[in-house]
Amino acid sequence: MKMILLGPPGAGKGTQAKGIAARYGIAHISTGDMLRAEVREGTPLGREAKSYMDKGQLVPDEVIIGMVKNRIAAPDCEKGFLFDGFPRTIAQAEALEKITDIDRVVDIEVPDERLIARISGRRMCPLCGATYHVSTYGSDKCSCGGVLYQRDDDRAETVAVRLTEYHKKTAPLIDYYAQKGKLLTVNGDAPVDAVADEIARELDA
Ligand code: ADP
Ligand code: ADP
Repeated sequence: MKMILLGPPGAGKGTQAKGIAARYGIAHISTGDMLRAEVREGTPLGREAKSYMDKGQLVPDEVIIGMVKNRIAAPDCEKGFLFDGFPRTIAQAEALEKITDIDRVVDIEVPDERLIARISGRRMCPLCGATYHVSTYGSDKCSCGGVLYQRDDDRAETVAVRLTEYHKKTAPLIDYYAQKGKLLTVNGDAPVDAVADEIARELDA
């Protein structure tokens, strides 16, 4: 099973990805998490990526494609994988097609005005990558013990740039995968469990 989770920043891709990956026994591959790990470790790739991420812009396609190619060669990807936040441009999707075949693409739809509240209240665990929302989670500690933080690019100034990048460069992928007959669409503007149920129903159908 090789799948893609598509959707704007804040749609709930990371939140849903864990459950889907566990259910199918496949690897969860978040390019955002991979990039943040590179930034934390101060690698050359991380240093290059950071300048784009801080501004809310997409990291260049070549950087991402190289990183993904390496990642899916790892043993935990043998049974399949779920991409979260990749591909984000038509060029990335075309490059992916040359490496492997994708079975399903799940697009999580959420209106922009809802996304802003979700992103600005998001808190993240530096250890396991779990995300929480301030409106529903009272503690500053993750269930794994990590101390939650707010991502630099989740501040209001950067969020607007990220949404513009999404509409200009990533949203065209919806048509791209619809034309290939691979697209499933779910309403992401619903409680977490309801979205999870709809995804499971769509994938089982
Ligand atoms: P993405 O990976 O698509 O950027 P996240 O999964 O990190 O999105 O979710 C963004 C924020 O919205 C997080 O704070 C998360 O807790 C919250 N969130 C996720 N799904 C829902 C939902 N269905 N309803 C309300 N809040 C949600
Ligand atoms: P979100 O789902 O909230 O947009 P991510 O964690 O997926 O956040 O991505 C954070 C940032 O990392 C993006 O704004 C972008 O700079 C970079 N990034 C992640 N994935 C990609 C990708 N596939 N292509 C280009 N840039 C990416």
